[in-house]
Amino acid sequence: FIKTYSEEIHYGGKFRGILLVLRDVTNEVEIDRIKNELVSTISHELRTPLSSIYGFTELMIQRDLPSHRQKKYLLAVHSETERLSLLINDFLDLQRMEANKQEYTFEPFDLLAMMKDLKQLHSLSSSSHQIRVSSDVSPLLIEADAKKIRQLFGNLINNAIKYSPAGGAIDIRVTEHNERLQVAITDHGIGIPASAMSELFQKFYRVDNSDTRKIGGTGLGLSICREIARAHDGEIHVESIEGQGSTFTVDLPLTQPDA
Ligand code: ADP
Repeated sequence: FIKTYSEEIHYGGKFRGILLVLRDVTNEVEIDRIKNELVSTISHELRTPLSSIYGFTELMIQRDLPSHRQKKYLLAVHSETERLSLLINDFLDLQRMEANKQEYTFEPFDLLAMMKDLKQLHSLSSSSHQIRVSSDVSPLLIEADAKKIRQLFGNLINNAIKYSPAGGAIDIRVTEHNERLQVAITDHGIGIPASAMSELFQKFYRVDNSDTRKIGGTGLGLSICREIARAHDGEIHVESIEGQGSTFTVDLPLTQPDA
């Protein structure tokens, strides 16, 4: 994007030429675009749960409801409050990581045990998906920030569930090679269009189609995953075929040199 400014130069009563200033404002335009997107995503994401909390509590205040209805509305308020707090936490987490203010505590732990625990947890909340964990090595000790690594894989498993139809299988494959480990999480869900691949890990980016619009999200999860992988000298990749499914692969060193 170029901004232009021009002015005629007159000297001694005569026209001498034109002063033309061209300024590349691509960065400013891009920052503006990101700011606008951020404001609209945040306001939409905050407004939706807030208006249902408002609606349910208003109903409870105005009407004499039987206790089973009250309970139903309270559960809805509870889950919307949870959604709001997740959004705010994700947003603050990402801000902290991007500003290099996140502190990491590296400690040894068994990654395989963590993956099995995550599988257990997600199987409880989403019994309609079959989650399988497989590995050549057991146990698999790594040196990393256990809380953050749990957040990384929790996000990826959560996405695999969210973006797959009920009944879909999710495979988590853990392998070790050359002092690094790879965790591949494969789903057989809606997949990702090739045109979206380059933007997928950007803050607030969500694939925009009728499928994803029905599924809630903030577009912050994958940015957080990428920040956590980077902080561990790791990488995250994705392969996907639209309509068939996706595989997210995380590659991490087994030990941290300066931990
Ligand atoms: P969200 O909160 O929207 O899920 P993410 O940052 O986790 O945010 O993901 C960004 C976008 O990438 C999602 O909105 C979705 O369009 C796409 N995506 C992520 N994981 C998957 C997946 N396993 N299958 C299909 N699409 C995915």
